[in-house]
Amino acid sequence: MSRILDQLHFLKRKQGEFADGHGETRKESRDWEDGYRARWQYDKIVRSTHGVNCTGSCSWKIYVKNGLITWETQQTDYPRTRPDLPNHEPRGCPRGASYSWYIYSANRVKYPKVRKALLQLWREARKSLAPVDAWQSIVEDPDKAADLTSILALVGSLFAVLSRYAVNFWNQGLHQGASLSIDRAENVSDIYWQPLVLTIIGFFALFLTLLLIGTRTEIRTRRLRAIQMQESV
Ligand code: SF4
Repeated sequence: MSRILDQLHFLKRKQGEFADGHGETRKESRDWEDGYRARWQYDKIVRSTHGVNCTGSCSWKIYVKNGLITWETQQTDYPRTRPDLPNHEPRGCPRGASYSWYIYSANRVKYPKVRKALLQLWREARKSLAPVDAWQSIVEDPDKAADLTSILALVGSLFAVLSRYAVNFWNQGLHQGASLSIDRAENVSDIYWQPLVLTIIGFFALFLTLLLIGTRTEIRTRRLRAIQMQESV
């Protein structure tokens, strides 16, 4: 019996300060700590990346609980590309690390964005047509399609320039630098730079080829139409 009493005495919670007042034990409920423990609990880890406004595609471990993202850490299993280069890890930027917080933000984009001109055409078409037919009636009408794509091309070109200066303005050393620069010293290493330049030249050549083929097809189509009209008169 006395042993049990001794044990009870031994397990009694001590109260008061220790370590010269740097620590303190109290007799109070510590249930509130469960909130912190629950914060980092997860059911599974999945591999994913951040697809919004980023083409980085860095590999991340996403910790999921009840189907919700709770937190994330960078994957560190990138293969080494060659022995004389440092590995890429950890890859991923601070913006990406905060992604799991803003994915459920009240300010997130919740619906597809659509340009006003397209929305007006869509609403007009939907008055009489089913969704797929309505969409088809817009994209297959050469005049409507030309109007829309010209707006998108103009807005896209403007944003390409704006985003370049926006990245410089808000950079603050947090984002990766430019891969290509007029200043040779800022460029990526030659083993990346050379294939990149080659790819850019390839894309321009492809664009030019498709443009010439498209122009030739358009000229032939118009000629054909003119001949058909002459014959029908
Ligand atoms: S970590 Fe940064 S650079 Fe990488 S995918 Fe995410 S947002 Fe993009």
